[in-house]
Amino acid sequence: MNVSLSLYLHFPYCWSKCHYCAFNSVRYDKPQSLRFLSALKMEIARYGGRPEVRGRRLISLYMGGGTPSIFTADQVLEVLDCGRRHFHFADDIEITMEANPGTVDREKLTALRKGGINRLSIGVQSFQDDELAWLGRAHNSRVARKAYGRAREAGFENVNLDFMYSLPDQRLEDWNRTLDEAIGLGPEHLSAYALTIEEGTRFGADYDHGLLMLPDEERQIRFDEWTRAKLAGAGYLRYEVSNYARPVYACRHNLGYWSQQEYLGLGPGAHSYVGGRRFSKMEDIDAYIRDIEKGGEAIEESESIGPDLAFREALIFGLRKTEGICFDEIRNRYPRTDSGRLQQTFEQWSLDELIVLNPPRVRLSSKGLCLWDRIAEEITAVF
Ligand code: SF4
Repeated sequence: MNVSLSLYLHFPYCWSKCHYCAFNSVRYDKPQSLRFLSALKMEIARYGGRPEVRGRRLISLYMGGGTPSIFTADQVLEVLDCGRRHFHFADDIEITMEANPGTVDREKLTALRKGGINRLSIGVQSFQDDELAWLGRAHNSRVARKAYGRAREAGFENVNLDFMYSLPDQRLEDWNRTLDEAIGLGPEHLSAYALTIEEGTRFGADYDHGLLMLPDEERQIRFDEWTRAKLAGAGYLRYEVSNYARPVYACRHNLGYWSQQEYLGLGPGAHSYVGGRRFSKMEDIDAYIRDIEKGGEAIEESESIGPDLAFREALIFGLRKTEGICFDEIRNRYPRTDSGRLQQTFEQWSLDELIVLNPPRVRLSSKGLCLWDRIAEEITAVF
């Protein structure tokens, strides 16, 4: 088997919990974190020898969280070296690490860069201090600027900055100030996520009690369109709902998710799609560690991806990419598809100005990209 593969490693610790965060992350706990690191390395070694993985070329490795950069450079690099020993890294592998401002200094970043991490994704979220405080972030804008500068000094030539926008009281000029500053710094990649309210978060509780309102659809579309135009003018092409990059800097790892490429996810709560099966790891960190320590796989849920689900996912995730999908390719790959129904759905969306039909390709319009969640729900309901 010589099919490529991506690897995701989940580091589930942060200094504090952001108000909007529904990721699997808890407050940093040193004794537990040491057991977690050992378990993660055991898990990597175990999976590296499995038949569905052995011999496959690893084209991307993504360390996410949580906050992987909460760990020392030595700890992170031990995990990476473990990966190198047990997986077959492609020569041009993309190795990304997420980092939060306030957890990195020049020394740590230099060691990480020298150790082989070639892409850094910094969770800036905003350059406005009042917005950062409102989001519950652990840093301010000065610390974020410093982290970016240190990353460049350490030799990172592929840096992503993450932002959140479309906040309830945010004015377009506030967001524009953050965008101006981001563009001025000149990262290779920018992610811009419209705020969503997730259950189980502080914002989720506020929303349920009527203390928080999200901007209406029209305003979201205005912010979205502004972002796209502004970043396009600065040389960043939107290649996915929330992602913009200078040419050749699109994130290989994330593109794999949206293109139905296989990936293995290790660590608490990580998700995998390997060998036509999707499975997730136990979210509870203690349960995950105990299971791995006793030789288990810490699987929480597992399902086979049949042709109907594979077809739905090809549509849902394929349409996240601004290049869209090829109608003919979808029909060939999923011959059981009800083409008439699909055609009808596309025609309706075209009338609603959600998609652009350019046979054989179909892509979401600006409005459609902004309303992707609604489109995904409709695909699930119809097909
Ligand atoms: S830093 Fe990221 S993972 Fe951690 S709590 Fe905040 S949003 Fe969640």
